[in-house]
Amino acid sequence: MGYYLDKISKVEVHLVSAPVQGGFADATRKVETVGYTVVELTTQSGITGFGITYNEVGGEATKLLIEKNIAPRLIGRDPFETEAVWNEMVAYLRGVGRKGLMFCALSAVDIALWDIKGKMLDIPLYRLFGGNDPKVPVYGSGGWTSYTDEQLVEEMVSLVKDDRYNMIKFKVGVEGGRNINRDVQRVAKVREAVGPDIGILLDANNCWDAATGVRFANMVREYDIMLLEEPVFADDIPGLKRFKEGTDVPLASGEHEYTKYGCRDLVLNNAADFIQIDGTRTGGFTEMLKIAAITQAWNLKFAPHAMENIHIHLVSAYANAPFLERLKLFEKITADVYVDAPVPVDGYMTIPDLPGLGLKLNRDFIKEHECKIF
Ligand SMILES: [Mg+2]
Repeated sequence: MGYYLDKISKVEVHLVSAPVQGGFADATRKVETVGYTVVELTTQSGITGFGITYNEVGGEATKLLIEKNIAPRLIGRDPFETEAVWNEMVAYLRGVGRKGLMFCALSAVDIALWDIKGKMLDIPLYRLFGGNDPKVPVYGSGGWTSYTDEQLVEEMVSLVKDDRYNMIKFKVGVEGGRNINRDVQRVAKVREAVGPDIGILLDANNCWDAATGVRFANMVREYDIMLLEEPVFADDIPGLKRFKEGTDVPLASGEHEYTKYGCRDLVLNNAADFIQIDGTRTGGFTEMLKIAAITQAWNLKFAPHAMENIHIHLVSAYANAPFLERLKLFEKITADVYVDAPVPVDGYMTIPDLPGLGLKLNRDFIKEHECKIF
């Protein structure tokens, strides 16, 4: 007993952001900044683990929330007591946020605790979660609605070039979601360009109502669509249900849901086929293990949103997790923040044979590009 007993002795938080050049927009918003909030925890015995959450907005507030409110309560805690820490943090902070930035902050901390657990046990997290295959399918994700048809086709073809990916996702909802005929033409052009063997996924980013989503889905089903994501506002759960009742194109949703309760609401309302809850926002691995179990019990697909280097451990471990999503938008900052992060080869990513997350931070880059808040 007590062999692994150790305590958190130091908490450091770094915010690294980069402006997005090129004016990328989806059906409902423009992206101006992408960034990572990195939480590094060090134990008394000198083990360091880290976790991340990401931001387009709100990175500064997330960093401060961790430094001012969470960090003092982490010092002295045993890194193995993830369940206890999670419950205490939620009880402490629930009055100021049961979704949103509060959970982004908690996610980064929880992921860092799991990274430490893996390092103390000297095994990669996917093995701690019960997985046995480090090779995981991944799709390439991009294709903004602000692109011309030519730019869209060019990017999608570039993703499948050299067998980097054999599944791709792009945005629909051009002209703010007011012209589905143009969306159908764009889908047709991409299908024509990539050929019949590439998987195509579509993301409408909350832009329609259920009736429009159903109409669009039934217009593109002849192009062999693997899934349509967020056809209606994420909180319009009755609308998601109506969408599912109107088409057999599979429905994906969940990147805007938080915690097991958000997952519960999607599954109880028959509001998705692919549950895309994001572990770097929803509460870390502690919560994602429960979310994965709920999706299994309902025989749904568990398909975490983005942050492929974190989610790879879960997708490896769960048989109902079909693939990872890798956002082209985050390729550069991911390559900068980590040293030698895995990249897709022949449609797969492979978990490094290293303990914990299996990732190393590029401390020089982080130091040079750290955002000053005040
Ligand atoms: Mg999406």
